[in-house]
Amino acid sequence: MRKMKKWIAGGLLAAWIVGAGLLWVGESAYVSGGAEAAAVVIDAGHGGIDPGVTGRLTGVRECDLNLSVALELERLFSQSGLRVAMTRRTGEGLYGPDEPNKKSADMRRRGEIIAGSGADMMISVHMNFIGDARCAGTQVFYRDEAGRELAACIQNAVRTLQPGNRRTAHTGDYFVLKAGSMPSVIVECGFLSNAGDEALLTDEAYRRRLAWHIYDGAMEFLARRQKS
Ligand SMILES: [Zn+2]
Repeated sequence: MRKMKKWIAGGLLAAWIVGAGLLWVGESAYVSGGAEAAAVVIDAGHGGIDPGVTGRLTGVRECDLNLSVALELERLFSQSGLRVAMTRRTGEGLYGPDEPNKKSADMRRRGEIIAGSGADMMISVHMNFIGDARCAGTQVFYRDEAGRELAACIQNAVRTLQPGNRRTAHTGDYFVLKAGSMPSVIVECGFLSNAGDEALLTDEAYRRRLAWHIYDGAMEFLARRQKS
């Protein structure tokens, strides 16, 4: 009996993609992909038992709008080859079902994710609300010098989205700004106490444009850092 040994070689295709793709942003900025890529940690404010503020006219919940903008930011940064960490990707809060103090557990876990991310920047997404219904526009907060330039870049980028938006970046003493040592900002996307802002922020297409401008400002910040 003849024994035939047959090697069936499966098609083995090794595709080597050499060299990280360069994404050009604006005229001169770029960020390279791969393991050495810059990293960003994105925090969608509130969630779970804490809805944040609610729209004066529609009752829309801040936690849901924050998540929507945060997930779009995740998509944009990931697409550009950045490493992205998220404090949350669902509507759930960051605590176990038996946690006695859910809000403090949530904040503690949020802080751990931000601090442990080792990211090059942190962007926390929120919606604003104030008694004076005339207040409108996006406002970026930072805590220290490291965050100041990131805040300025994002504030400048969102200004081109809404030419009437004359708000400037401000310092703020908030928990998430202190959680990590990386440049950190809170983007208050607009006022749910203002009819015009509420109409914009409840429009998904606007939220996508807003996220793109936040992303664009953050990429400008990274490009400046790479040059210096
Ligand atoms: Zn908030």
